[in-house]
Amino acid sequence: NMKITLEDDMSRAEAVLAMRREAMRGGRASGPVHQRVGFGYDSHRLVEGRKLFLGGREIPHDRGLLGHSDADVLLHAIGDALLGAAGAGDLGRLFPDDDPAWKDISSTVLLETIRSVAAEKGDTVHSVDATVVLERPRLRPHIDSMEETIARLLCVEKERVSVKATTNEGMGCIGRGEGIAAFAVVSMRGNEDEDTCM
Ligand code: MG
Repeated sequence: NMKITLEDDMSRAEAVLAMRREAMRGGRASGPVHQRVGFGYDSHRLVEGRKLFLGGREIPHDRGLLGHSDADVLLHAIGDALLGAAGAGDLGRLFPDDDPAWKDISSTVLLETIRSVAAEKGDTVHSVDATVVLERPRLRPHIDSMEETIARLLCVEKERVSVKATTNEGMGCIGRGEGIAAFAVVSMRGNEDEDTCM
């Protein structure tokens, strides 16, 4: 804690805060910073008569993912990974699928909410790596805009967000095009915790 009385104290406090912010962004660490990693997985069924949303973008396709929200499987996997890293439960606990409040809601809203829950605990997203598994449509033309959208939602530089796509080589239900799955790893940074064993 710093005592702030004079104008000079204020600028010193601002300098300390700026150093801490820099440390949390991964620059020169001026104090102890912890890093946590979370993992997320999700899958949804592809059906006719639904729009396809992936990574917060609408993707042109003849079918879309079935779910209580917009069923954006990629944002759900990232959201679960973020909650895992923050030790804040899971997507189903935060947004129950029998709650009408989340019916047809854009998953971008869910991800923004999760990010602010983590931020309240003092954790900021450091990096995101995700893989979408699907046979069709081809995602390559949309990867850039998905990464951009995810980076914006999580307040992180685009260079720290990676979205990859692969097919399942025709094997199993994903291979038959019955649905889409996504895996994600999120790393987060925050102030060092007290050692609970001390
Ligand atoms: Mg889901």
